[in-house]
Amino acid sequence: MQHEQEQPTGPPAEKLDIVNPATEELITTVPVTTPEEVDRAVGRAAAAQTQWAGLPPADRARLLRRFASVVDGHIEELGVLEMREAGHPLSNACWEASNVRDLLDYSAGGVERLTGRQIPVAGGVNITFAEPLGVVAVIAPWNFPMPIAAWGSAPTLAAGNAVLLKPAETTPLTALRLAELALEAGLPEGLFQVLPGEGPVTGSALVEHPRVAKVVFTGSTAVGKRIMARCAASVKRVTLELGGKSPNIIFADADLERAATAAPGSFLDNTGQDCCARSRILVQRSVHDRFLELLEPAVHAFRAGDPAEAGTAMGPLVSARQRERVRGYVPEDAPALIRGSIPEGPGFWYPATVLQGTVGERAAVEEIFGPVAVVIPFDDEEEAVRLANDTDYGLSGSIWTRDSARALRVSRAVAAGNLSVNSHSSVRYSTPFGGYKQSGLGRELGPDALAAFTETKNVFISTEESQ
Ligand code: NAD
Repeated sequence: MQHEQEQPTGPPAEKLDIVNPATEELITTVPVTTPEEVDRAVGRAAAAQTQWAGLPPADRARLLRRFASVVDGHIEELGVLEMREAGHPLSNACWEASNVRDLLDYSAGGVERLTGRQIPVAGGVNITFAEPLGVVAVIAPWNFPMPIAAWGSAPTLAAGNAVLLKPAETTPLTALRLAELALEAGLPEGLFQVLPGEGPVTGSALVEHPRVAKVVFTGSTAVGKRIMARCAASVKRVTLELGGKSPNIIFADADLERAATAAPGSFLDNTGQDCCARSRILVQRSVHDRFLELLEPAVHAFRAGDPAEAGTAMGPLVSARQRERVRGYVPEDAPALIRGSIPEGPGFWYPATVLQGTVGERAAVEEIFGPVAVVIPFDDEEEAVRLANDTDYGLSGSIWTRDSARALRVSRAVAAGNLSVNSHSSVRYSTPFGGYKQSGLGRELGPDALAAFTETKNVFISTEESQ
């Protein structure tokens, strides 16, 4: 795995340089959080959590709705911040901010519906309680800094916990602003804190802290495995949202024009830095050539350029380091079936690239996390399913066909957490999201999201008459 940041590469940094990936200009610097500061933050969070969990549920729900409403008043500002630190096209970034607002609203709706159960038993009454965990650490990646910060935090807060959020080194600005907006909305001081810093220092201090009850980690599979092993040492709860190498399966009976027009968005959105990217295009052999003919103009129409300009579909990669990783898989002059264009001048640009894939080849197997897809032909449904499942990952996938029975058969046969039929849509705040196999552990979002941040307590009350 390439996305690995286990060991510090030098002495711990004192500050993080935040660079605009479209211009390579320094936006600002952000101080890092030392392990001693993490310890103090945990203390403040624990105190705030006691206060928060003691509030009537209706009051907690009201404060979270107010947080949503304050975010609503800052959509454009948050979008611009996400664009500047992560390079996302502005319209996408503003959509991400509105997604944060909607998830806060949705999670607020869960506060008063988080109930226990009464279970019939002999000799008394048995009731269960859904109790908050306490202090939860949310460790976020840089690819969708703002929505992923919210996926971990909103249901966690709604379930009565405090959140310590560590954003990725390159993209802490939207998270820091969200924490300010939470205070503006009236959430207790210390309840939602953002602790910027390096993974192996600040992130590690959170994972190791004895008073952190759960770690919600989104990032690479390599780092996720190590975090899980560390959590195991004290049976700390953990949710893992990890990498993917998802298939886009195109059957000969599909609406090929629709499938080809949609395909670029499925591996070029967010410049391919998307855990759900459908970066393995599996095409039935009889329509392989026709599909490629249709795909080529669609890839060229997916314009790379200034993220601030309307009509830009694809921004730069997040950093020079990420561009080096992508180049490590595919040199920019490697033979390609389709190659898009990129702006001249500064910025961490990498062109849209479609390769002929060979089963087992590195680019066809590993998560590249750049605007690169491989095309692999298949003969029949059985082979399509076998190729789709021929990976350690299992996050998402698409199935294009006009045959609804086949759509359901293949959806059930592909080992992945999020499948779409005649669509590439994977993520909605109201539906569960997460991975099979090495793509993760647990689910986020959807109607059960709050339950992942509670312990179930069972209480039996005897109704026997005392002697
Ligand atoms: P990464 O694993 O390098 O880092 C993720 C976060 O973990 C960062 O905040 C980093 O600072 C922190 N970290 C690194 N080492 C740590 C350590 N030893 N202890 C504690 N924290 C540590 O991942 P990345 O490169 O930022 O993100 C890209 C990866 O994230 C891709 O593999 C992608 O597929 C995955 N991802 C998954 C999902 C999902 O929901 N499944 C969503 C987005 C991204």
